[in-house]
Amino acid sequence: MRARGRRQIAGRARSPLRAANRCGHTRPRRAEDCAPYRRLGVHLGDSGVNLRRRIRQVPARCNSPPTGQREERPWGRAGRRNPRRARTTKRHGDRELHPPAFVDYSLARDMTLTEKLLARAAGKAEVRAGENVWVKADVLMTHDVCGPGTIGVFQREFGAQAKVWDKDRVVIIPDHYIFTADSKSNRNVDILREFVRQQGITYFYDVIDDPNGMWRFDLAQGALKRQYGSQYAGVCHTALPQKGHTRPGEVLFGTDSHTCMAGAFNEFATGIGNTDAGFVMGTGRLLLKVPETMLFRLEGKLQPGVMAKDIILHIIGEIGFDGATYRALQFEGSGIATLSVDDRMTVANMAIEAGGKNGIFPFDARTAEYVEARTRLNGTRQSYEPVELDPDQKVVYELTVDLARLEPTVACHPDPGQRKLAKELGDVQLDRAYIGSCTGGKTSDFVEFARWLRGRRVSIDTFGVPATPEIVHELQTTRWGGERLWDLLVAAGVQMTENAGCAACLGGPVDTFGRMNAPLKCISATNRNFPGRMGHKDSQVFLASPATVAASALAGRIVDPREYLPS
Ligand code: SF4
Repeated sequence: MRARGRRQIAGRARSPLRAANRCGHTRPRRAEDCAPYRRLGVHLGDSGVNLRRRIRQVPARCNSPPTGQREERPWGRAGRRNPRRARTTKRHGDRELHPPAFVDYSLARDMTLTEKLLARAAGKAEVRAGENVWVKADVLMTHDVCGPGTIGVFQREFGAQAKVWDKDRVVIIPDHYIFTADSKSNRNVDILREFVRQQGITYFYDVIDDPNGMWRFDLAQGALKRQYGSQYAGVCHTALPQKGHTRPGEVLFGTDSHTCMAGAFNEFATGIGNTDAGFVMGTGRLLLKVPETMLFRLEGKLQPGVMAKDIILHIIGEIGFDGATYRALQFEGSGIATLSVDDRMTVANMAIEAGGKNGIFPFDARTAEYVEARTRLNGTRQSYEPVELDPDQKVVYELTVDLARLEPTVACHPDPGQRKLAKELGDVQLDRAYIGSCTGGKTSDFVEFARWLRGRRVSIDTFGVPATPEIVHELQTTRWGGERLWDLLVAAGVQMTENAGCAACLGGPVDTFGRMNAPLKCISATNRNFPGRMGHKDSQVFLASPATVAASALAGRIVDPREYLPS
């Protein structure tokens, strides 16, 4: 165990980018002239392309001491702090020197990523699994299903005239029961709109454009043609990062169990109930027990036909659907560099399917590139402070997954832990295939799905629901050989709706697009398959990757997608 003297230190941490933008370490003439950039390049193992792009984005001035004067830094070796000297900011010539960016000196070093995040949010140098701490929320997200209940708790406990703790940090995203004529579901969106108006909440992604209007879905127009306005954002977990609300180092609470998806961005993100959310809405704080951490080392590279969904289905099959109850799932290893941001979101999203409190990935150049692009695009807060992996961390479980040896995997009815290989399930005849949701309705999911379907035709009812309007747009503007991706999917027999949202992932009212209103068997790119999840209580859902869903839709039975490799 390391000495704990460092916990006394109250230094303020900065990410290299934060340093670059806010503390005087503005753009150096060469990356290697500036310590934060130097560390960024070395630490992130980036190709340099992203690094150079970021360097171009800040003003051409560097206040950092030149490389040759590194030894004079008051904080000693990079990554280590000299506690006798580092409490105060030192002067170097006529310039102020700051402690090196990136390393959070105020935190003890032998914690897991989740412990570090919660320690920081609790204003402590150190927390340990099992400890109860009050943590500050950075963002509270709610949607149309739980939002009205959360608002009710908030108003009951804090008073009808009470104001939310921070109108810029409450993000409201209607997405679940939207495209239905069910009047109570429609009314929920109206309740959210009224609350937003009362409170002056900044980030509300309304279904309609008229702030004084009422949402009514028009069944007569059919389910496929878009009916939302220009602000609508789609499925909350996919919309949060797209709209610039996920940042490394932050704490995100959401009234939805798959809020853990934002752990892909090196933040603590977890689902909470309406009562807790009402409390957070009023105070910006929540009492949390620090979860133990289970470590999953991802090594190697996925083979063709195997996707990120197979990684998490493999892991859940290994530990069971309750195998991580109230634990953090931390993903590490060289294989992470091969996973896109979308892939990481898929994996983190399903941490809850093993009972996990949260899922979390380390910060790297891909995270930085995505977050910076999205926060800049949407004008949301751009500063952030990632937390770093620590080799001395204490975990309660460790598993190494060789990505190169994974095979297309399926979670069979009736829970996400019923793992089988797709090639073992060839006798399971299907009635339906479904691609969509926060987990499986991203652009990259549809692209992979389309690769398998190109020039072929599905043999069973197949439904496609993009997670967000932005994804609809991308699918409708991306062309393969002159053909729009969207049209390719329609030509293959997929019923594609422009009404992006949760749709049948959660069943919903009976008129929900793709809902199973009969005891059917469905292979789905979604994330949960408990009985009744997608509609009829006697239906059966088999969870799989978009590639496996596509190949199975072609065959009419569950197959290994490698049998149908695209030409
Ligand atoms: S798409 Fe499904 S899992 Fe995701 S938020 Fe909606 S209902 Fe939940």
